Amino acid sequence: MAKKKKNKYPLSKFVGFTLLSLIAGLVVGLMGSVGYTLTDVKSDEKKKSSGVGKIYDDFQIHFMELGNIYAGDSIYIKAGDNDILIDAGSRPSSKETIKNYLNNYVEDGKLEYVIATHAHQDHIASFGCSEGIFYSYDIGTIIDFPLTNSTTSTYKKYVEGKEYAISKGSSYYSALDCINETNGAKKVYTLGEDITMEVLDSRYYVETTKDENDYSVCLLFTCGKNKFLLTGDLEEDGEKYLVELNKDKISNCDLFKAGHHGSYTASSEALLKVVQPKISVCTCVCGSTEYTKNLENVFPSQKYVDRISKYTDQVFVTSLCSDYEKGEYTSMNGNVIVSSNKIECAVNCSSNNTILKDTTWFKENRNCPEEWK
Ligand SMILES: [Zn+2]
Repeated sequence: MAKKKKNKYPLSKFVGFTLLSLIAGLVVGLMGSVGYTLTDVKSDEKKKSSGVGKIYDDFQIHFMELGNIYAGDSIYIKAGDNDILIDAGSRPSSKETIKNYLNNYVEDGKLEYVIATHAHQDHIASFGCSEGIFYSYDIGTIIDFPLTNSTTSTYKKYVEGKEYAISKGSSYYSALDCINETNGAKKVYTLGEDITMEVLDSRYYVETTKDENDYSVCLLFTCGKNKFLLTGDLEEDGEKYLVELNKDKISNCDLFKAGHHGSYTASSEALLKVVQPKISVCTCVCGSTEYTKNLENVFPSQKYVDRISKYTDQVFVTSLCSDYEKGEYTSMNGNVIVSSNKIECAVNCSSNNTILKDTTWFKENRNCPEEWK
């Protein structure tokens, strides 16, 4: 009440001013402590495209909402003249959402690089389906997982689509080709001045496992001083070897995409203590019971929250579940854009820039770790 009437009463005015000062102080403090700039809170796409709301141009990574109730990844990266798509989940119905989003940025109908991290439908469903990504864009280079156990129709369609793209002139390499620099593949691709994409080595490019997630292709992007780590759905076991094989490269990243959508089975302490992320993005429909009815473990899980809290509170989540059985969802942060000017990073989201710990969902569904109090 005092807040709403603050302009009428001197005392309320004073309280309002004090509150504002406190909030401003906190925001400045937070920005200082994590070392990056959180941009103005501007919500809708129109305002953004008209230039309101700060997004750096040198390097942008867009974590897309996928237009349905299912967790999944589709990540667009703009770096210099390169348009890159990593994964195309979460279901074939996401293809329109993904293409509509891409078409705001991809002016020449060409994706210079397309990467598929692993063979689960929430990462590949919109690649090979009818009118999917492989049939809708010119594609320069495709990079994907060397190994899979998958025999699903979604995977078969993915392979058909990939072969179609190759027949139209795309280059194709597995992540293992990249690591070994065989068949013309490279380990590190230069995307612009001081901007790179590196395929990171992983044990499960050569060794088989029952856990499909551990076959994920892992990528490190750099833009000047800034580093961005994407590990697909790599689980704790894969993360352990990722650290062993790439320790120096992946230390102190600005951004870490929450492992396996914020599952309790990923984003292990062994990885986080090396990565020390300043920003983390969960690509999921927050609170959805798609995979479990154990509310501690729905994405983003309590264990992920507890572990990431030691490093940052700058956690963003794409969508929010309202009613899983009815298929009802809305935006949490919406499409999350993390960008870099080679010196610092910014975050700007299509719906709002509220960090996870300040959301109603968090307050009602998660125990707040000490570090976030
Ligand atoms: Zn997934």
